[in-house]
Amino acid sequence: MKITRIEPMLVGFPYDHGGPKIADMTGAVRSTMDALYVKVETDEGITGWGEAFGFGGCALTHAAYERLVTPIALGMDAINIEATMAELHRRVLNLGRNGAAIFALSGIDVALWDIRGKIAGKPVHKLLNPNSRDAVPAYASLLRLNEAPLVAKVSEQALKRGYLHIKLHERTVECVAAARDVIGPNADLMLDTNCQWTPAMALEMALNFETYNLAWLEEPINPPDDYKSLAALRRAQKTPIAAGENLGNFFDVQNIIDAGAVDIVQPDAIKIGGITELWKAMAYAHEKGVRAEPHSPLYGPGWIASVHVVAAMQEDTLAEFYYADLEACPLGDMIYPKNGVMAVPQGPGLGMDVDEKVIAKYRRM
Ligand SMILES: [Mg+2]
Repeated sequence: MKITRIEPMLVGFPYDHGGPKIADMTGAVRSTMDALYVKVETDEGITGWGEAFGFGGCALTHAAYERLVTPIALGMDAINIEATMAELHRRVLNLGRNGAAIFALSGIDVALWDIRGKIAGKPVHKLLNPNSRDAVPAYASLLRLNEAPLVAKVSEQALKRGYLHIKLHERTVECVAAARDVIGPNADLMLDTNCQWTPAMALEMALNFETYNLAWLEEPINPPDDYKSLAALRRAQKTPIAAGENLGNFFDVQNIIDAGAVDIVQPDAIKIGGITELWKAMAYAHEKGVRAEPHSPLYGPGWIASVHVVAAMQEDTLAEFYYADLEACPLGDMIYPKNGVMAVPQGPGLGMDVDEKVIAKYRRM
């Protein structure tokens, strides 16, 4: 079975996350939640869906398909995913082992797993592990709100919606204190600073946060690949350190774990090479006794692929749900956890019905 067509689709959906709209990486106000869906067609009529990262870089990844990855991938085998992906990684390696080309490969990999499951008549999580879970706990990953009263309001709303694990994207003690105050001592609270500090500042802030009993402190140090400083930070204070969403391939995951830089590793399916690479990363983390929590601030096929992987893992891994309500979604309501629990799709492949009318309505590229 050959790949005959690859169509990247840039879509953007208005959203409500409980506060003023945030800026994207270009500095522009992010009025829509953007995503790059990828449809892969084959010569036997079976179609798979994937997603490639993402955010303000969707158009760049779209160009990576059009200018580079699609011309290479057309005609390749859709069945032997491992061989096809290995060849694709080899063909683009001169462009770097992280970034838009790898994101584009990730989308193809996810779509090929969707196809593999459809052919087998089984959901992807069962292909990965016959003893997978039917439902997984989700954590509410709040978008940045900046103001302590807003953090308190949205944290309380998430708790009322049934989430027992809440992650903030804030950078101040005031915001962390506000969240802990409203959710009480029993719910898990995590903090993600998205690479905000020097190593010295990160230590100072981590010590300030100790009183709030964070379940983890995520990406405190800039740049994210300063593993030596992350390892030193781990040793110098009590809060577990999480990182990994900016890793570009499986070997990066090996390196960050082997450097002793993380308590929790967080690779992202649609950045690291798809389900194939994420699953290898999960196995490596398991072997080394490091907790793994896939990064998935997504609402499309990449989110659903992450849920399949989490369901297939041995540990009580959580699924990261980016806490917002979308005006519409091509996957319908299946994307939303209920009472803090995400139902794992049981249909063949990724188990999604993609409404292409919704894609057409919100499509920009
Ligand atoms: Mg993060």
